[in-house]
Amino acid sequence: MNKQLSKKQRINYFVINLISFASIFLILGLIVFQLVQTSIYQSVDHDLKRLSEDEKFLQHQLIQGEQLQEMPVQPDKFNTPPPNNFQQQVILWSKEGKILNEAELGSRFYDFQNLKLSTENLHKISSVQTKDSNDRSLQFRSITLPVKNQQEVVYLQLLVNTDPIKGTVDQFKQILIICMIIFGLLSIALSYFLSKWFMKPILTSWKKQQEFVENASHELRTPLTIIQAKLEKLFTKPNHTILEESETIALSLEEVQRLSQLTSDLLLLARSDSDALTLEKEPVRINRFLNTVLLPYQELAAAEEKEFIIELGQEQQVFFDKKRIHQLLIILLDNALKYTNPDEKIIVCSSVKNNEWLIKIRDTGSGIPDEKKSAVFERFYRGEQSRNRKTGGYGIGLAIAKWIVDEHQGKIELTDNLPKGTIVLVRFPIK
Ligand code: ATP
Ligand code: MG
Repeated sequence: MNKQLSKKQRINYFVINLISFASIFLILGLIVFQLVQTSIYQSVDHDLKRLSEDEKFLQHQLIQGEQLQEMPVQPDKFNTPPPNNFQQQVILWSKEGKILNEAELGSRFYDFQNLKLSTENLHKISSVQTKDSNDRSLQFRSITLPVKNQQEVVYLQLLVNTDPIKGTVDQFKQILIICMIIFGLLSIALSYFLSKWFMKPILTSWKKQQEFVENASHELRTPLTIIQAKLEKLFTKPNHTILEESETIALSLEEVQRLSQLTSDLLLLARSDSDALTLEKEPVRINRFLNTVLLPYQELAAAEEKEFIIELGQEQQVFFDKKRIHQLLIILLDNALKYTNPDEKIIVCSSVKNNEWLIKIRDTGSGIPDEKKSAVFERFYRGEQSRNRKTGGYGIGLAIAKWIVDEHQGKIELTDNLPKGTIVLVRFPIK
């Protein structure tokens, strides 16, 4: 991926992450704030509602108001402490909107001297704002009730001062804003690291893909160049017969075959990457299946003067994709034959043990050094000794083998065959 594109993608991830985190924190903050605020005000409203329905309390207030009203106004009346606590207040209104329980209110009267009687929302709790004698704004939740069977008192208003609550809510708001800023900064840092983290697998797979395409086109070019050279050579000898040029034609055909095999292998790997291949499993009698697969290799080994031994265990039925396991065995047997010299030995064992089907291919060939044992499964990896084209192949055999084994939930392991050679052990679970 070019740098600009990857940078753009990373910025995209960063912005998406940041927006997601910021929205989550913001919504969470707003919900918490709203919940706290309503629950605080709800308890006030609940108290007001309870008092407004408490007949005894209301009656008591009215009687008290009447008594105080009849009493002569004392000069020290404002020194008496208010009978109710500061939060909760009762005002008795006349029809004309005059406060009747001035004496009872005591010094608190100054808080309500600017308050006007409102008879619009009777029996309903609402917010009321007024100014005290020092022009200070005061907030209340209030409910006004009409009072019958009384000569003077017409309305009773219950009030709860919400200024202390407002202070608490404001303080909570401040704390919440500070928290939001801290979480905002955390979100920026987290988004930055996450965008970096998200990009990592994309970059790795992109790099792998690029390597694959580069290697594949390089491998495709080699046989094509050979074929091109051979055909050009034929053009320089227009009078030669096919028989005379049979070697050139045969070599070209060999390259075409290699090319055809390579393209089908590449296609298989490409399709395995995009999960476009599915296994077609069926019940198979393993010994019968192995005999048909191994027979041609036994003949091939005999022709190359190599010893080829087959050791099969008890016959058993196993579920697998016949075509793919055939392909796997061809890859492994092809390697065993390719990397052994004449007079050397290849032993193929098959057995079923502990719910596993084991296939062991042992050869006394060149062996694989420990440090290369995991690398040989990589695409296009070829050992030093197999660099020459005759034995070399393309280095994709074991990559395909690994894919087939993985698809069957199996395991493939490479170990040394002592004193010399390689053991390939394949294990498939049997359900
Ligand atoms: P291809 O199979 O694509 O024709 P290849 O045989 O080189 O080419 P792999 O089958 O993937 O590729 O094997 C990778 C490498 O592992 C080989 O190049 C070889 O060096 C080593 N290797 C694999 N099997 C054996 C073996 N039985 N003995 C020794 N070396 C082996
Ligand atoms: Mg191979």
